Amino acid sequence: MSSLRLSLPLSVPRISLLQSRRYSSCDFSRFFPSCYPGEKLQRGCRRLQSFLEMEVLLRSLRPRLFFRVIWFLGFILFLQFWIAGSIDKNKALVEHLQQYGKLRSDKVAKIMETIDRALFVKKEYPPYVDSPMPIGYNATISAPHMHALCLELLKDHLQPGMHALDVGSGSGYLTACFALMVGPEGRAVGIEHIPELVAASIENVKRSAAAPLLEKGSLSLHVADGRDGWPEAAPYDAIHVGAAAPEIPKALLDQLKPGGRMVIPVGHYFQDLQVIDKKLDGSITSRNVTGVRYVPLTSRSAQLQNY
Ligand code: SAH
Repeated sequence: MSSLRLSLPLSVPRISLLQSRRYSSCDFSRFFPSCYPGEKLQRGCRRLQSFLEMEVLLRSLRPRLFFRVIWFLGFILFLQFWIAGSIDKNKALVEHLQQYGKLRSDKVAKIMETIDRALFVKKEYPPYVDSPMPIGYNATISAPHMHALCLELLKDHLQPGMHALDVGSGSGYLTACFALMVGPEGRAVGIEHIPELVAASIENVKRSAAAPLLEKGSLSLHVADGRDGWPEAAPYDAIHVGAAAPEIPKALLDQLKPGGRMVIPVGHYFQDLQVIDKKLDGSITSRNVTGVRYVPLTSRSAQLQNY
């Protein structure tokens, strides 16, 4: 065996591979009688040597490559299941809301299925529980049944091409829903007075199905006092206020389009969710829908001092 090894062209690069431990399990020299010299055998040996060198090289590479491919495929599968799982759970939440009569129209159900609530709830809280969840700065993302109710009340005023204002946009969830409903020809504006919440809501929207509308500019989120509305995109077909006002801010009434609708919680400790309709002649009607408990529509400093 050793004599045949010596007769091989030792100048072939990577000859050291031949002496590697891995190679020993398929040592070719045992197939050739070491006592048989001659050119043919030498050529054969050389070919076999380069073949085996390749194989040894591949063997040394393959395990790493193999594990990398397995890791990669595993990661892709995990992502798929995770995303699909999340979408399934969001769908289950929507079905739950339908079952309990909180969601009546297919239109709103489809929108709430499309905007995954998990993208708007902080990682440490369960996103699919029908309850408000803290988003920081003494604010909360509203409970899914409240989102459903407000979307149902406003849906006829969120047709493609219409303008919508979301005052106290918080997590950005409802602004994203509004944007999908009014589409790229419409406008959905979110106003929030805590800059950090606006920054976080922009990141939330970027990961959601409404991201292209944010990029296009038909959805925008701004740091401002919501009590002043947002005159740049007024008048609005739909105004939603996500925090309880002691009384309806005049600026919001002024920015409501004739034929438009505002949904706003009004009150201090005891609050009512009110629907305000502005008729085509400019007159206002209002009705109470239900008793609610929202965080107050207030100044930034009052909110940061926990009201
Ligand atoms: N619809 C939002 C609700 C967030 S809670 C969601 O589901 O995520 C109400 C929000 O109103 C809070 O984020 C709070 O910071 C904001 N807010 C309170 N007073 C405000 C004001 N004067 N101007 C703008 N935003 C205000």
